[in-house]
Amino acid sequence: MCRCCLNLTDGEGLGWACRHGEQRLAVVVPISYSIGGEGLHRLIVTYKREADRSVPQAVAALAQVCERFLVAHEPCVASAAGLKGVFDRVTTVPSADPMRDLHHPLRRIVGEVCEATRGRYERLLVRSDSVAIPRVYDPARYVPTRRLAGESVLVVDDMWTSGASAQSAAGALLAAGARCVAAVVLARHLNRSWHNNDASLRALQRLGFSYERCVLCA
Ligand SMILES: [Zn+2]
Ligand SMILES: [Zn+2]
Repeated sequence: MCRCCLNLTDGEGLGWACRHGEQRLAVVVPISYSIGGEGLHRLIVTYKREADRSVPQAVAALAQVCERFLVAHEPCVASAAGLKGVFDRVTTVPSADPMRDLHHPLRRIVGEVCEATRGRYERLLVRSDSVAIPRVYDPARYVPTRRLAGESVLVVDDMWTSGASAQSAAGALLAAGARCVAAVVLARHLNRSWHNNDASLRALQRLGFSYERCVLCA
């Protein structure tokens, strides 16, 4: 596995995208894998839709995933990032579309629904006017909403593919004065049909999923 984002790889160390991109996040912890077309992936696709009857259910389900995981494992993430306790601030990665960003359901989940995070949630970044090139690290795509005074920041994002947007957000937060930035992502995206993913996923399935352990404390 890639030691940054847990992408399934054939070797050790960092996977291709993480090796060729910038590493600004102190730690990245996916709650689970999102496998194209399967359960968690469908929830993450659904909760961002507009005018879909299943949206409220998907938002509630993902909020519960987020809450249960962070209550149990935010201290693991903080400790791996070299901090004691929990993060000072919690934020989300701004959406590419500024109008969408105002009402993004992840902001609602992390900033309003989850008890574990809502008291510390703050919109610390907004999109800049620069054109974001997909999968390319560029902290200039984000503008900080204020100066940070050495605070530690936990970024919560829904899906990790190349990691370029979360790493760019971390770069922008560090440049704004954050002491340390780490990320919890609802899911690391995988395609079952790529390379040996199917065999590796089936081997991993024997371990099952449990809120009792994260990749750091397992
Ligand atoms: Zn990686
Ligand atoms: Zn843990």
